[in-house]
Amino acid sequence: MNTTSDVLIIGGGIVGLAIAIELKLRGATVTILSRDFKQAAAHAAAGMLAPQAEGIPLGPMLELCLRSRQLYPNWIRKLEELTGASTGYWPCGILAPVYAAEAERTDLREAAAIARASGTEAQWLDQAVIHQYQAGLGSDVMGGWWFPEDAQVDNRALTQTLWIAAQTLGVSIQDGVSVQAIQQQQRQVVSVQTSVGDWQAKHYVLATGAWSNELLPIPVQPRKGQMLAVQSPDSAAGLPLRRVLFGSDLYIVPRQDGRIIIGATSEEVGFTPNNTPAGVQELLARAIRLYPALQDFALQELWWGFRPATPDELPILGASACTNLLLATGHYRNGILLAPITAQLIADAIAQQPDPLLEHFSWQRFHQTKPSTPPASLAASSTPAALSSSTHVLPRSNSVLTHAVPALAQADITTLDSPLVIAGRSFHSRLMTGTGKYRSIADMQQSVVASGCEIVTVAVRRVQTKAPGHEGLAEALDWSKIWMLPNTAGCKTAEEAIRVARLGREMAKLLGQEDNNFVKLEVIPDTKYLLPDPIGTLEAAEQLVKEGFAVLPYINADPLLAKRLEEVGCATVMPLGSPIGSGQGIKNAANIQIIIENAQVPVVVDAGLGAPSEAAQAMEMGASALLINTAIAEAQNPVAMARAMGLAAEAGRLAYLAGRIPVKSHASASSPLTGTITQ
Ligand SMILES: Cc1cc2nc3c(=O)[nH]c(=O)nc-3n(C[C@H](O)[C@H](O)[C@H](O)COP(=O)(O)OP(=O)(O)OC[C@H]3O[C@@H](n4cnc5c(N)ncnc54)[C@H](O)[C@@H]3O)c2cc1C
Repeated sequence: MNTTSDVLIIGGGIVGLAIAIELKLRGATVTILSRDFKQAAAHAAAGMLAPQAEGIPLGPMLELCLRSRQLYPNWIRKLEELTGASTGYWPCGILAPVYAAEAERTDLREAAAIARASGTEAQWLDQAVIHQYQAGLGSDVMGGWWFPEDAQVDNRALTQTLWIAAQTLGVSIQDGVSVQAIQQQQRQVVSVQTSVGDWQAKHYVLATGAWSNELLPIPVQPRKGQMLAVQSPDSAAGLPLRRVLFGSDLYIVPRQDGRIIIGATSEEVGFTPNNTPAGVQELLARAIRLYPALQDFALQELWWGFRPATPDELPILGASACTNLLLATGHYRNGILLAPITAQLIADAIAQQPDPLLEHFSWQRFHQTKPSTPPASLAASSTPAALSSSTHVLPRSNSVLTHAVPALAQADITTLDSPLVIAGRSFHSRLMTGTGKYRSIADMQQSVVASGCEIVTVAVRRVQTKAPGHEGLAEALDWSKIWMLPNTAGCKTAEEAIRVARLGREMAKLLGQEDNNFVKLEVIPDTKYLLPDPIGTLEAAEQLVKEGFAVLPYINADPLLAKRLEEVGCATVMPLGSPIGSGQGIKNAANIQIIIENAQVPVVVDAGLGAPSEAAQAMEMGASALLINTAIAEAQNPVAMARAMGLAAEAGRLAYLAGRIPVKSHASASSPLTGTITQ
């Protein structure tokens, strides 16, 4: 065990390095564990410091960005003095030209209003002025915004400077060390397991950019960006471009040495490497349209990188589920800009002086808040961030609400609920189904569609052994719409379940779900009642959470076990209603109720439900979701039953949110007794 320092930072990209330096300057001892310095998105970026050109709306994110932009000049001065290196910081302003066809874009019209309200400058330049301001723009540019306070930095030079500064100050940087698991006990990180042994510190900071959800079930996904650079010809008149051009889906960033950076694509392709002809062609076509002279400049370099994106495109900053672990990730398109403020806020939080701004960037915004008294808290439970997320919200299908109520009422009702959020991923359907026990693949396919479910659990072992009904599963369902929940059915011990969970992750990857780290954990030694082993389940859950899985454990309805599983970091708990496949319904309602009351993670009632009335009952009790397989697969008409279960899940949820009347011991007349006609 390497007992290191006050603070151990996982990830040595721009965010990790900036935090390390800030902490070191405040007197802490700091270690950085960095898998690969060259892998960091910080090297791939364009280095724009562009809160205004990016069109960030008024609100906490704009405040964060503007505060960071303001910190830049002093931060850079300090770093350059410390190292003697240059970072290429250049407060050159950013010009955002607009083509005729875009002139009506409301986000552009709002630029002035946002600038006024945030105390920044933004100036509209009409056609004649903008072409005078910047010679050589495309002839169809009809005007544009000038943001004089936006700036740029040479992000490669800056990252190198940060590295040297950290070393100069005595930060211990361990490059080539990959953190494999964060070991937690009782909401405390006790150590991190790495490629070179275990490390320990008082505080930990996760700053692993796009790779963050390999270590914790937080919703950070890679968003690939392709870039290229050209070299402007030597010119006696100086640089042809002296300010950043920020077009639509394109930017052109001139450096002071004549290099010109052109970016960037935005692709949801996981960690797929390389530049592609299509990506490069797209960038060049847009760049040449905006600044035609570029077509003759020398091509210098192509590269790509992975932005750390969250569903709402805001960073995840501050406290985590563990008291001594802080999160500094998900900076998406603005990590270079946000480095100095992130460093400051994280250092303040470690010093127990968290800035109130951090509240807006908490990881908990992706986790469901359960209404304690349903009707009163309805509005609060529908988090706009989760609802507006386009990346992770799967399409709503077969919703009862879309068919059953008029449009206005429907809008009112749908706003009552927020999506089901599991490990940061949002789902509209609260019914999960399975693939087992169907009489035919066609029955299974149609039932999945009829149920409206967005999560389907698949037994990894049955797929591996090509058990009946599990051949051709890859083609049987549309895995771009259905989220796979690999399960460890058939595993009798924790060790087996852990092994099968790892296979499940690979299986999901093969189906194109690169970022799927979900596993439904089943450890079932008993073959008669198929009851789960609580100790084996807890052991396996602990290990799988450390390995970065989002664990959904199948358990007996034991409230204490449910709490322990939540404490070790499980993404949900899945108590059974009655033994698997028994169709006995909910036999342990009192215990499930206690689990629901105490859980901070979604409670999914799993197993034993036989009829839609039982599905509705579980949802009325406040369960977050249901998993139903046998009752659908073995029904006489599985497709009709699937639909019925889907409707029941929605009806039960709506009833829970609506708040049922209390049960009274006496009658209460439906019509008023006052105002009746008496003789
Ligand atoms: C094409 C492109 C253009 C961009 N342009 C801009 C821009 O103009 N302006 C701007 O502000 N931002 C821009 N960004 C975004 C910016 O680059 C990122 O937001 C920023 O780099 C994120 O910093 P980070 O330190 O969190 O992650 P990274 O810089 O990616 O660093 C993460 C580091 O963590 C390490 N790591 C990961 N997992 C582990 C592990 N398990 N153990 C140990 N180490 C680990 C990685 O090896 C890596 O070195 C751009 C990004 C891209 C890809």
